Parts: sequence; structure tokens; C-alpha cells
Amino acid sequence: MCSTAVLGTTDRYAQAGLSFNALRGIFITHHRFDHNVEYGPLLSIGWVQGMPLSVRAYGPPPLKQMTADYIRSMRTTIDFWSEDLKMKPLETIDVTEVPQAGPVMQDDNVKVTATVVQHPPVKPALGYRFDFHDRSIAFSGDTTPLDAVAQLAKGADVLVHEAMYLPALVDYLKAQIAKGRPVKFDDYMAHMHADHSPVEDVGRIAQEAGVKTLVLSHLTPAIDSISDDTWRAAAAQKFKGEIVVGHDLAVL
Ligand SMILES: [Zn+2]
Repeated sequence: MCSTAVLGTTDRYAQAGLSFNALRGIFITHHRFDHNVEYGPLLSIGWVQGMPLSVRAYGPPPLKQMTADYIRSMRTTIDFWSEDLKMKPLETIDVTEVPQAGPVMQDDNVKVTATVVQHPPVKPALGYRFDFHDRSIAFSGDTTPLDAVAQLAKGADVLVHEAMYLPALVDYLKAQIAKGRPVKFDDYMAHMHADHSPVEDVGRIAQEAGVKTLVLSHLTPAIDSISDDTWRAAAAQKFKGEIVVGHDLAVL
């Protein structure tokens, strides 16, 4: 239950100027709507737009079942399209389930490693690290402040970490409830404390990891009234490197 938008992955991929032809791997951190709801649509639209059928997906179980069920649900639609445009139908894709921490995959371009993060009751919830030849980037996924993330990101160039700003969250949530959003205040705040990271702690984790750049992402609440300077100042209490406030389509 996050205040970030949940749709847009496929659009953002296209808007970033990336070709679906170039899509080789899809990595899912955990099974909550704001992280997986567009997995199926990405496969469908990607296929229509030229995604290779050799694309691979990685993520926690039951990703194989989810993939098969989604493609099955779209069978008729896929068949109409493939008959019409003489395309090889999307039958299945190669899925690697990642049930625990450790190596995920390696090819000529990248080595990927996962760690298990703290996001109850979701199990497992993962963070990933991508080591390229010239750069390394770690992603926290959704988690409380965790030593495992600092270890995963040790010495990386970039850590992309979720962050929440508690002073604004309380007011934001009260305003949402007043507008009729069906959320119980105490339950929601208990979830936020048990599942997410105050931005000040994110700075501490980044400092512990020794990364060059911290990107604050998955911002909660994601509202314009919190300035980038406010986010940065909170993280900078403990982190001495570069701090970037993540926005869609930003390029580092
Ligand atoms: Zn989330």
C-alpha cells in the first residue's frame, strides 16, 4: 500500500526511447500491485512491439505460475493478433524464480545478485544489484532500513533506495482519509513503519554501503509539496555522497 503510482512501466519504457526489441530481462522485486501489476501488460505490449520471445523474467515465486496464467488469460487475444499480423505467438517466456538471496544471473554484460529485504507479509521481497563492466547499481526494493541492503550495495556506484518522509506522511494520509480513501490510519502507519524506510535512515544505509550516489525513489508520500531539497536534506544528515531525488525518466 504505497502512495506511488502503480501504472506506467510500459509507457515509461517507451518514453525513455528504449526499443522493445532490446528488452532482454525483466526483474521483479516482490509481489505487490505497485511492483507487479504491469508485468502482464508489459509482456503483451512488448510482444506486439517487437520484444524478443527470448526475453527472461526474474522474481520471487510464484512468477512461473503468474506468467503462465497471464499468457493463458490472453490466449485468444494473442492468437487473433498473431493470425492477423503473421507473428509468432507469445506462448511462454523463460522465467527464473528467485526464492532467496544469492546470484541470479550472469551474461556478457551484467552480473545480477539478489538479497532478501524486510517487507512483511511479502516473502520473499528482494533487492537487486547489477554489476556492469563500467558501473554497479543496487536497488533496495521495498524494505525497512536494512543492513542486508548496505551489504548488497557495498562499494556500488549507485544505490536506488525507497524513502518515506514521515512528517508529511501523517498530514497527507489524514487528508486522503478525509476525502474518503478507505484506509485505517493506525493500520496504515503500522504498515509504513514495519515495511518502509524513513529517508534519514536511507542516508545511513547509503553511508554504510559507501556508494557514490544515492537515488531516492518510491517516495512516500509522492507529493510535489515536499521539495527535492527537503528530501535531500533529510538523507544528507547521514550520507555524504551525491543525493539525487528520483523522478520518472531521469537519466544519471
Ligand atoms: Zn511499493
